[in-house]
Amino acid sequence: MKRQRNERAAIDLKLLTVLGRYYAYNVKTARWAELDNKSWHRLGRLREAPEAIPGLAPVFEAPPALPKPEEGLAPKNLILQVSHVCNLRCRYCSADFGRYGGRFRSMTAQTAARAVDFLFEASDAADLAVTYFGGEPLLNLEAVLSSARHALGRAQKERKAVSLHLVTNGVELQPQTLMRLDEMGFSLTVSMDGPKGCHDRCRPFPDGRGSHGTIARQLEIAGQMPIGRRVTVRGTFTRESAAFFPNVRYLVRRRFSNNIAYEPVFLPPSNPLALRWQDLPDVKKAYRDLARLYVDHWRNGNPFCLWDFDDAIVQLVRARPRRSRCGAGVATVAVTAEGDLYACHMSTGMDQARLGNLEGGLDEKRRRPWVERFRNGREGCANCWLRALCGGGCNTHAILYNKGLGSPYRLECRLIEHRYRLALWMLSEFPELREAVSANLAGTDSDRGHLLTPLWSCRDHAADRSEKGKAAESRPV
Ligand code: SF4
Ligand code: SF4
Repeated sequence: MKRQRNERAAIDLKLLTVLGRYYAYNVKTARWAELDNKSWHRLGRLREAPEAIPGLAPVFEAPPALPKPEEGLAPKNLILQVSHVCNLRCRYCSADFGRYGGRFRSMTAQTAARAVDFLFEASDAADLAVTYFGGEPLLNLEAVLSSARHALGRAQKERKAVSLHLVTNGVELQPQTLMRLDEMGFSLTVSMDGPKGCHDRCRPFPDGRGSHGTIARQLEIAGQMPIGRRVTVRGTFTRESAAFFPNVRYLVRRRFSNNIAYEPVFLPPSNPLALRWQDLPDVKKAYRDLARLYVDHWRNGNPFCLWDFDDAIVQLVRARPRRSRCGAGVATVAVTAEGDLYACHMSTGMDQARLGNLEGGLDEKRRRPWVERFRNGREGCANCWLRALCGGGCNTHAILYNKGLGSPYRLECRLIEHRYRLALWMLSEFPELREAVSANLAGTDSDRGHLLTPLWSCRDHAADRSEKGKAAESRPV
């Protein structure tokens, strides 16, 4: 009987070691505990009841219930692809320089306004978000500003909140434009891959000149304005820059922004810049070095946010299952210049992700597989130890790499898992992170557990609450 009980407990437990620390993690409930070396080995040998292992009790506490499966199924994040044109020629561009397999074109202001109306009519949520994307959205600034004004006006009339976000390469972020975006409360994601050599190698202008100097200047100006707190600097790493740690360290040292996102390239496996399994050791080492830098900065009182680390840290402190991290096709819908609806900006042009158009609205039959996955998770995740917390990876990656929503992109899984392990270690190394998360939880999405406020801003006690609220909106898409 005792043996049976031990074995049952062991099935639910994942034992982990991370950089010399020891953990037990309950794969069903997402509860976990750090153990000392001796207890961890005793647990591994399974000779006694798990309750007898010092420090293990939290792992068997019951988590709060998951939200009802019917909640959160209406769209609340609209991605407006206002410009299918771009002023850069990035070597790793997965958007075909904004064309997504079509031709260069722009969205009219009328279509942008209609798309905003679609969001307000399709959604029952009190908090909505509109994100401007491209190509380069600032090449169609008037459509951005007029539809943003329309969204703010409707929100005020209908007593809803709407946050405005714009993803840009930064080339057209002149002070005048920054001021106009600032006045409307926009948050920004600006692309910058790292030092000049690294950035310019991948992100040239059409004539071959590098764009680093232009973008660094605009970021410095933005940093001196209130909008600076709402800027996320986003970098991309490829096969050529798999050892990406020095590039992120550069961004941290330059202090363009405290909010950094640094993510793998999104390309078909045949592309020479796409990540391969052979690149994993370099990528994992870069994350390890970054975890040490992250903790050092917290210790020294100048923390920064790296969104994927912050998200894993928050999930581990919340320690409760979440349904899905990726809201594509459910909470999120993208609109093209023609008014076609796609599950998200990255899936534009993929037949499986076409979900209707502004004329006829969402095609619920085409949307059903996306909703089903959101409700029930991915079959391919069923045996993963991290399934309760992870939320199942990116839908568009699943389609691109595995031709369907059922199975996740396994290379991405290895990165997700590695970041969660490091997040455990960071929480042990710097316990104050827990306090930051607790302060942050009021700003998390209760369903998916999305982090809405960068952790560093919770520590900035001098900043007023409203500025913190605005920093919340800088989360990158
Ligand atoms: S800025 Fe974006 S859309 Fe333009 S070329 Fe670069 S990756 Fe593509
Ligand atoms: S996406 Fe990958 S890491 Fe996440 S739960 Fe699924 S299998 Fe696990």
